[in-house]
Amino acid sequence: MRAAQLVEPGVFEVRDVSIPQPAAGEVLIRVAGAGLCGSDVHLVAMKERLFSLPMTLGHETAGWVEKIGEGVAGLELKQPVLIAGIWGCGRCRPCVEGHENACQYWATRMPVPLGPGLGFPGGMAEFMVAPARTLFPLGDLDPVEAAPLGDAGVTPCHAINLVRRHLRADVTVAVIGVGGLGHLALQLLRATTACRIVAVDNDAARLALAKGYGADETVLSDEHAVETFNQLTRGLGVEVVFDFVGASPTLTLANTIVATSGAVVVVGLAGGTMTVVADSPPHGLPKWGVELIRPYGATSRDIYEVIGLAQRKKLKADIERHPLDEAPAVLAALKAGKVKGRAVLIPPR
Ligand SMILES: [Zn+2]
Ligand SMILES: [Zn+2]
Repeated sequence: MRAAQLVEPGVFEVRDVSIPQPAAGEVLIRVAGAGLCGSDVHLVAMKERLFSLPMTLGHETAGWVEKIGEGVAGLELKQPVLIAGIWGCGRCRPCVEGHENACQYWATRMPVPLGPGLGFPGGMAEFMVAPARTLFPLGDLDPVEAAPLGDAGVTPCHAINLVRRHLRADVTVAVIGVGGLGHLALQLLRATTACRIVAVDNDAARLALAKGYGADETVLSDEHAVETFNQLTRGLGVEVVFDFVGASPTLTLANTIVATSGAVVVVGLAGGTMTVVADSPPHGLPKWGVELIRPYGATSRDIYEVIGLAQRKKLKADIERHPLDEAPAVLAALKAGKVKGRAVLIPPR
């Protein structure tokens, strides 16, 4: 079968590999589609060998049950499923509570909990094997359209759920970065809160799409952005800022526009630095009482919530479809900021 693999640091190629077979407790999935994520760009660019290579990438995948391993109950052949992007040990306390994104087994062994395309063979292939526990039924959703929900949908959902107590109807929230995760974050906020939602991006073309995803206001991230937020919030600031970029300029913006007792939620991994100045005003930063949260991945509960919202047509990834064989070119386009919404790789049928 064809599989898009990180062969060695910096080398990403589509190659022929053998079809895997499910062991006890596992399921073979015929892949419908696999989303390409900003973290795949990071993985390919990384100089270190974090994982043993070659490794098939793809941590947001959906497909159909093709073959069921021994001892697996509750799944049927041909059933469409979403594959979780993080595979904990399944036995530690966070894992049994559905928080495989905080698995204690991996916490002491790896810098990140492993998953498909992050240590295990991922979904950018014709077939993949997954532990039965990590499969979530999609019902009547199209698995090609649903694939990006596996990361770009569930990661913002988790981030939003962590600050749910802030999200009252009278507050303003900001979403920085209207990309793969950001465009779904806007829809999630629209569907699950009554907050005023402000989208921020440095690309006017992306920003033009934001109202269609649920934003009430848009702010171009330029030298006037802080002043615009002051006007929008009568100088109070924004209750929660979600930063889906994570570069120093976006972190600085978040740190500046967050309201007293608000929260900054940093999801993006662009390698930026955020400064905390432990001093009184006017020098202190951020304002008093501000929480900083750095969420990772999602819980099982978040995954069910995202699938439920998609089934009720409250959440839909904006996708562009590409043949799996074009994976390296699509990765380059994503890196160059040329992908709107999410690119999904479709294996040959
Ligand atoms: Zn990702
Ligand atoms: Zn665990």
